Amino acid sequence: MTVSDSPEHPGTGPVDRADPALGRISAAGPPPAAADPHAPSTVGPDEGLADPAGVGRRQRHELWMRRALEVAVTGPDAGLPATGSRDAGRPDTGPPDTRFPADGDIPVGAVVYGPDGTELATGRNERELTGDPTAHAEILALRRAAARVGEWRLDGCTLVVTLEPCTMCAGALVLARIGTVVFGAWEPKTGAAGSLWDVVRDRRLNHRPEVYAGVLAAESAAVLRAFFR
Ligand code: ZN
Repeated sequence: MTVSDSPEHPGTGPVDRADPALGRISAAGPPPAAADPHAPSTVGPDEGLADPAGVGRRQRHELWMRRALEVAVTGPDAGLPATGSRDAGRPDTGPPDTRFPADGDIPVGAVVYGPDGTELATGRNERELTGDPTAHAEILALRRAAARVGEWRLDGCTLVVTLEPCTMCAGALVLARIGTVVFGAWEPKTGAAGSLWDVVRDRRLNHRPEVYAGVLAAESAAVLRAFFR
């Protein structure tokens, strides 16, 4: 089932139904566009499984993705560090509870982690709340992380986001020199990290983050579907 097939979500207010970002959110593997044999070697939904050293990385990415999912559903106030978050005792299966904020924003969450794994900043899609077309989760998280670090360069940092970044956010990730991008659900209609485009790994650019795709993709897609239910 796709998001666009879902019944109307009551009380969503000004959500733009024509927004291509609402369609065909996918928990499935990479779309054909991502299967380019000339693309830089990256890891897909099975990341880490074939590499014993990668198992720890995969677990870390999943832990971080659960934090991003929490940010996605709890709204702009979800600024607590992971250690003090309210899901500390929550079983680590399934998506977080889905009590969405009333602002009508599509629940996408992002978290930036420093090179040492410290949580630097979070962001949730606040486009409707703020009336700002650029208020995507990744952009807000990047801005806050840069403010905390004190400079625009986020070398060695990891951005974790529940949905494949769009072209704007993929561009911002490159500009911020983000070291690693971890995303959840694929976005076949607007995705710019392997779906429609692959901005983050374009060899013509001077910086190419490492990309881990499809981390907790099913949970990430479920949160989006729940929003439109
Ligand atoms: Zn975006």
